[in-house]
Amino acid sequence: MNGKEISNYPENSNIVWKNNKLQCSINYVNDKPTYVVKFGNNFSNQVVSSKSPSDATTLFHNQINQGVNTRTSGVLLFGLHLESIHQYRIKPHKKRILKPVNEASHSTLTKRAKSMTKQVLDDFTNISKNHYNPVDKPILEKVQFSVNNYKFKVNVNENLITKECKNEAMVMVVDNGQISRDAYRKLTTIEDELPREWTIAEKRTQINIRMNDRIKINTVIMPQHMDINSNESYDIFDPEVIEEVTTSVGKGGKRSIKDVLKFIVPNLIKRGVLNLHEPIISIRISGDGRNVGKKVKHVMITFAILEDIENIHNPNYHYTVVLYPGLENYESLDILTISFREELQELKEIGININGVNWTINMYFSSDWKFLTICLGFNSANSLFFCPWCTITKKEISDIKKKWLISKQIDNINQYNGHHSTSLFNMISLENWIPDELHIMLRITDRLWSLLLHEIEETGYFNDVAREIIVKEMNRIKVNFHFWQEKECQSWSFTSLMG
Ligand SMILES: [Zn+2]
Repeated sequence: MNGKEISNYPENSNIVWKNNKLQCSINYVNDKPTYVVKFGNNFSNQVVSSKSPSDATTLFHNQINQGVNTRTSGVLLFGLHLESIHQYRIKPHKKRILKPVNEASHSTLTKRAKSMTKQVLDDFTNISKNHYNPVDKPILEKVQFSVNNYKFKVNVNENLITKECKNEAMVMVVDNGQISRDAYRKLTTIEDELPREWTIAEKRTQINIRMNDRIKINTVIMPQHMDINSNESYDIFDPEVIEEVTTSVGKGGKRSIKDVLKFIVPNLIKRGVLNLHEPIISIRISGDGRNVGKKVKHVMITFAILEDIENIHNPNYHYTVVLYPGLENYESLDILTISFREELQELKEIGININGVNWTINMYFSSDWKFLTICLGFNSANSLFFCPWCTITKKEISDIKKKWLISKQIDNINQYNGHHSTSLFNMISLENWIPDELHIMLRITDRLWSLLLHEIEETGYFNDVAREIIVKEMNRIKVNFHFWQEKECQSWSFTSLMG
């Protein structure tokens, strides 16, 4: 059979082969061939088969030689012997040589692992049909393999929301547990189920940006620099902590209490802690200084929502508004709290509008005795005028007929004896200044305890036997307690219970 082939196979899989009488073509529709033979005037007649070339030729012959049994090779008729096809068949197919993994780039490795996973996923989908009922929805979760010591793990069908939550939870654990970046990185080399360190770092940055948007942290330049003597040995070796501390020397951080309130109040309403129909919030302002290692002292001012009884002892619900490295004294606090006090004044006078609701704010101040007297601009506890609330003196301390009433006024508190300055928080009335119960209880216990020991001494039973009994009992209740005698001293000293 002579004719002309019209094709550029394999680029185009549709092949037309024609002579003067016939035009045969194989047309691919959705990868399935249909065999068409056109014939007659201007090729206006046609037969079509989707079965095979031979079937098409049989149909064709039935049309033109009705009843006469003639056969033509379908292969020949459809030009499957054609030169272009032959050339393609005999052409040696170049086999792709793949680069070994240790020479391939990171993106190539990722691409290969992904394409592997895709094929595994296809196979899994097919194979799982033979093993499970489709209603059970078998899911391929992870493809893990290694090639020449390169470990690959591709998570398939991973739920993005779960992944985000997991990363957020991880940031929280790392922060709360003070796990350094370096330590976390080491952990990930041991346990590869942990999210990578960089994803955690990225998540932390995201959270910081988001939080800084809602509650901005501003820095305040401190009046005097703390001198760190570089000749002294360091207690902290973690480079992250050292960097943070050294860059923060001379600077304090502050946040707006109004921003924090706007952020937390909606959730407090949702939890039923605050009531929209009775829009009152009671806040407790507190503060303390604490040693971070031996070199640095941090002073912080926090506030808590008193209505949130459930969480009142949970440090996560004490919101920091001022934090600085430095001394716990009136001068530093005076500078660091300027804008905080302005906000408190405003909260007291006009309250705060959150999502269209005007909230009234009740304020309390509560801290240990030391911090409380500093903020009141007052003497220390052992001075002649020792009481922050009334004008009693040390001499009257045993006068039990004296009336113990709050007699001072916060507004002109600096005019009373023992006050060197105005109160830092004069928007909080004096009745709402409450010393920390724990510290008071410890002090009272300490006083009672030394009275008891004096009594034993007076009765003459304060001997080795008595001391042994006391120490034994203290050990039993797990309190570290000792008696000792200083050199050239008759009286006995003992461990303070103040902690
Ligand atoms: Zn008093």
